Amino acid sequence: MPVYEYQCADCKHITEFLERFDNKEPHECEKCHSGKMSRILSRFGSVSGNSDGESFDGEDSSSGCSSCSLDNCSSCGI
Ligand SMILES: [Zn+2]
Repeated sequence: MPVYEYQCADCKHITEFLERFDNKEPHECEKCHSGKMSRILSRFGSVSGNSDGESFDGEDSSSGCSSCSLDNCSSCGI
């Protein structure tokens, strides 16, 4: 399950957020209640650095599949 961290731009307080379907993202700092929360990448580095997640949709398919660690999947037939 992805874990995101949100950092407050005002007081630099970091709020950990476990992504769940029934949870709402924290858009307010739990310390100073500022609304300037920005998501920083936590321990899951699979998303290619873009917090939007929309610009790099094709990135994963070009770098091999999970069943082979090669750069392409010509050996495993996927
Ligand atoms: Zn804050």
